[in-house]
Amino acid sequence: MAELRLDGHKLQYHPDRVADFLAGRPVWPINAEISPTSSCNHRCRFCNFNCLGHAARSLPAGKMPALMDELKRAEVKAVVFAGAGEPSLHPDTFPALRRARELGLDAALSTNGAPLGDRQLREMAELLTWSRFSINGGSPKAYAASQGADPADFARVLANLERLAAHKARSGSALTIGTQCVLISENMATVAELARRVKAAGADYFSVKHFYPHADNPYQPDPAGLAPGFLSELERRAGELSDTGFQWIVRGEEKLERVRPYRECLGLPFFVYLREDGGLYTCFSHQDDPQTAIGNLLELDFATLWQSAGKEAAIRRLNRHYDKNRCQANCRHHQINLWLDELRRPPPHVNFI
Ligand code: SF4
Ligand code: SF4
Repeated sequence: MAELRLDGHKLQYHPDRVADFLAGRPVWPINAEISPTSSCNHRCRFCNFNCLGHAARSLPAGKMPALMDELKRAEVKAVVFAGAGEPSLHPDTFPALRRARELGLDAALSTNGAPLGDRQLREMAELLTWSRFSINGGSPKAYAASQGADPADFARVLANLERLAAHKARSGSALTIGTQCVLISENMATVAELARRVKAAGADYFSVKHFYPHADNPYQPDPAGLAPGFLSELERRAGELSDTGFQWIVRGEEKLERVRPYRECLGLPFFVYLREDGGLYTCFSHQDDPQTAIGNLLELDFATLWQSAGKEAAIRRLNRHYDKNRCQANCRHHQINLWLDELRRPPPHVNFI
């Protein structure tokens, strides 16, 4: 498998959209993330959405499949089902994935993997470009402590991973099967065992990332988890376990950096986030501020909202009201913001390439 790029950005592969942006033409988003429901069967200790209580707030029946057509017309290229809860708990998530693929959109699913049945796993192999299982412990005990889950879910999730890999092999699909663990004190000691287990189950990669603090999340992990000795030992073991069919990626501490040289987040128009109450956003991190909402998709269609004054007002709010150096570490726009800022402010002599 070619080396994955989980950090950095890929906007340079969309020169038409970048040209629209630089010329001041309207920019349609490339990537849409959808939060089908805020319900979740787990309660991860670090989850940024615990503060919302995972109330059973969901997009209404029929909305997501129909939205795929609207996104396609708006030249969106990829949709990710993820968000504030477990997306597979919404009965429309798989119909929407099917519709996305019929329309030629790339589709992805982020899941904790526990509620998935065999039919869904088979469809994932057929429909998705990538899926990512969030597994936050390498033993039933560590998993239950980190993920606020029944310890029996640990074996269930690993079995589902194995079944997904079998469906992938049978169907010859190009699905990338990802797994991810947020490093916290409750699971640190079991991370290497988890890497071994997910590789054996057929995952293509295992990513260990840091906890990124968020203003609304009171959880504070034990800083000992970031001790340089521990991380370098993980990196050593990652090198040993990785091979041509499996990558263990330990995300660097520089991802915790919150210093941002730019004043404006120029990358905002390239993403769209749909919340489970219909609220539409460009920046996921400040969704608790109603002034960052473009509008509500339960009231107006996507193209109308995206071209409305509401979008400009939401972007203005994000750019004028928030100190970027206090925003969440590694926000998903950050690398694109950096790159576009450089394009907007070229150095002298750019024709001497
Ligand atoms: S599985 Fe995801 S949404 Fe559910 S509690 Fe854990 S991090 Fe939050
Ligand atoms: S830097 Fe802040 S405002 Fe800008 S995109 Fe990231 S989280 Fe949003």
